[in-house]
Amino acid sequence: MKKKLFALVLSGLMVFSLAACSSSSSEGTTEEAAGEETATTEEEGATAEGEVPDVGVLIYKYDDTYISTVRNALEAALDGKANVSMQDGKGDQATQNDQLDVMISKGVDVLCVNMVDAQAASGVVEKAKAADIPVIFFNREPATDVIASYEKAIFIGTNAADAGKMQGDIITDLFAEHPEYDLNGDGKVQYVMFQGEPDNPEAIARTQYSVEQAVENGTEMEQVGETQVCNWDTEQAQKAMEAILAANEGKIELVIANNDGMAIGCIAALSNIGYNVEGGDKFIPVIGVDATDAAKDAIAKGTMSATVLQDGEAMGNAVAAVALNAASGADFLEGTELTLDDTGVAVRIPYAPYTK
Ligand code: CA
Repeated sequence: MKKKLFALVLSGLMVFSLAACSSSSSEGTTEEAAGEETATTEEEGATAEGEVPDVGVLIYKYDDTYISTVRNALEAALDGKANVSMQDGKGDQATQNDQLDVMISKGVDVLCVNMVDAQAASGVVEKAKAADIPVIFFNREPATDVIASYEKAIFIGTNAADAGKMQGDIITDLFAEHPEYDLNGDGKVQYVMFQGEPDNPEAIARTQYSVEQAVENGTEMEQVGETQVCNWDTEQAQKAMEAILAANEGKIELVIANNDGMAIGCIAALSNIGYNVEGGDKFIPVIGVDATDAAKDAIAKGTMSATVLQDGEAMGNAVAAVALNAASGADFLEGTELTLDDTGVAVRIPYAPYTK
């Protein structure tokens, strides 16, 4: 009882200090914020009238292009409707655990968690449950039974297999439209695979289903070298691609990357030796996932073939809507167009193919 009261008082104080913070740092958005302030009064519930809820957001790392899109959309959607405190896990689960403890002790009304290591989610659930704080996991998916073990937990993500399958369809279409991409004319696609992380379910599914789907479509696939695990990172992918090219130039007909960040790194390596240069004549198709600005730009210039749009803005908006519901004590999906999938504990934001 006492503890809860203390938390309430503390969160009340935080509203003041955070509000002061955000008003000084968000010049130029006052008009927008003022316009949305009226909307907050309709959302009384867990918080008193005139107050907005405290939303704690834990991000796996700020230095990730796709996650930045989600982050920006989330912040924009919560602007004026919640006090948002956001932390950068910097790719380290121990750091994120500490950030979680601080947010819980501050008594946030709801937690939005982008896990560094999805396998560590049971620890997050335990702590949130003990503090009776709802948790919205997003993007990096915990095991279904972990989410289901807490009635105030939900996951918002994508269907990992879908992104891979869409890449597979793109591969089949590309090689049907461009027989010249089959450099050695053997009717098979010699490809290099760039994987995000070794144990990340999303990465594993993209790697697996991209090739499986192409094969299912009747495209013969043959891998060159080993799967390159480059941690979603542009520079790591560039270095790995440089090494593969040095050993296999002329033998690679396609680059498949789990994300656009790595795809862009591969294109950088290719352009260093005269391939995939705007207006050039040597080209190896590269496909990614995310539809980041850099990828869209490369596709427009013709230095990259295609990507799969992971709608970061839709993701950010969904997390915001669910967070506001949770903070006000409403059902997670009330008043939204979101639906739960077969697991009963997850919402899936659909992918879409993106080509020139
Ligand atoms: Ca071939």
